[in-house]
Amino acid sequence: MKILVCISSVPDTTSKINFTADKSAFDKTGIQWVINPLDEFALTKAVKLQESQGATVTVVNVGTPDTEAVIRKSLAIGANDAIRINQDPKDSYSVAKEIAQIAQNGNYDLILCGKESIDYNGGSVPGMLAQILDKPFVNACIGLEINGSEAKAVREIEGGKETVAVQLPAVIAGQKGMVEETELIIPNMRGIMSARTKPLQVVEPSSADVKVEAMSFESTPARAAVKLVSPDNIDELVRLLHEEAKVI
Ligand SMILES: Cc1cc2nc3c(=O)[nH]c(=O)nc-3n(C[C@H](O)[C@H](O)[C@H](O)COP(=O)(O)OP(=O)(O)OC[C@H]3O[C@@H](n4cnc5c(N)ncnc54)[C@H](O)[C@@H]3O)c2cc1C
Repeated sequence: MKILVCISSVPDTTSKINFTADKSAFDKTGIQWVINPLDEFALTKAVKLQESQGATVTVVNVGTPDTEAVIRKSLAIGANDAIRINQDPKDSYSVAKEIAQIAQNGNYDLILCGKESIDYNGGSVPGMLAQILDKPFVNACIGLEINGSEAKAVREIEGGKETVAVQLPAVIAGQKGMVEETELIIPNMRGIMSARTKPLQVVEPSSADVKVEAMSFESTPARAAVKLVSPDNIDELVRLLHEEAKVI
C-alpha cells in the first residue's frame, strides 16, 4: 500500500501573529514553524500502517525551501520519502491541484490530510483534492482501519460517531482520535539522523491556478486589561459590571 500524507507547515501555536505594516501579508519574522498538529495525527497513523501492513509513506508539502525543516521532521517521525512542490501556497485550490498531480502520478492508495490547517483554517484542501481526483472523501476522521482495498473510518458527528466504509484509493482528513496524543511519535536521534539522507524530491508546480486572493489582514483587538476588585468592595464590583461591562 502506498500512502501520501499532506503536510502543512504552520506557525508554532505559541507564536505571536503579526501582519506586515500595509496589512497585505502575514509577517513571518521570528516565527517558529511546526507540522500542522492535525497532520501529525495523520502522519502517525500512516507510520503505524507502515509498521503493521508494510505500507510506504510519502509526505508532500506545497511550500518554499523554508518548509524543509518541517519536512525533515516528518521523515524523522518515520515517512520513507518526501516531495516538496516548490510554491508559496496562495490559496486552497492551487494547493489541492498541485497535490492532486502528485497523487495521480504516484498511484497512491490512501491520501491522508489533516482536517484543517491551524493557520489559515481553510478546511478546504482535502475536499478539493478528493474532488479533483474524483475519489471518495471522508472528513473529520477519528479512527481508521484498512482491510485490503477497503477503509473503515470513524467520523465525529454531533452527539456521537459514525462509521463509514470507502473503497481505496480515497482521501481521508483526520484529527485527534485518528491516533491518540500519547501515540504521537517524538523523533529519536536515530530517526533524526536517518531523516537527513532520506529522499526529498523538489518538483516545480504545474501551474499557479489561484482562485481566491487575500486582500488584507487585520489583527484581533488586544484584550482589555483585567481589573481586580477587592472582595470587600462589592459596591465597586457592581458599578463596574453595570457601567463598564454592562452585563447587569
Ligand atoms: C504568503 C501567503 C499568501 C497567501 N495568500 C492567500 C490568498 O491570497 N488567498 C487565500 O485564500 N489564501 C492565501 N494564503 C493561505 C494559503 O491559501 C493556505 O496556506 C493554503 O490555502 C492552505 O491552507 P488552508 O487553510 O486552506 O488548508 P486546509 O484546507 O485547512 O488544510 C487541510 C489539510 O490540507 C493539507 N494542506 C494544507 N496546506 C498544505 C500545503 N501547503 N502543503 C501540503 N498539504 C497542505 C494538510 O494536510 C492540512 O491539514 C496565503 C498563504 C501564504 C503563506
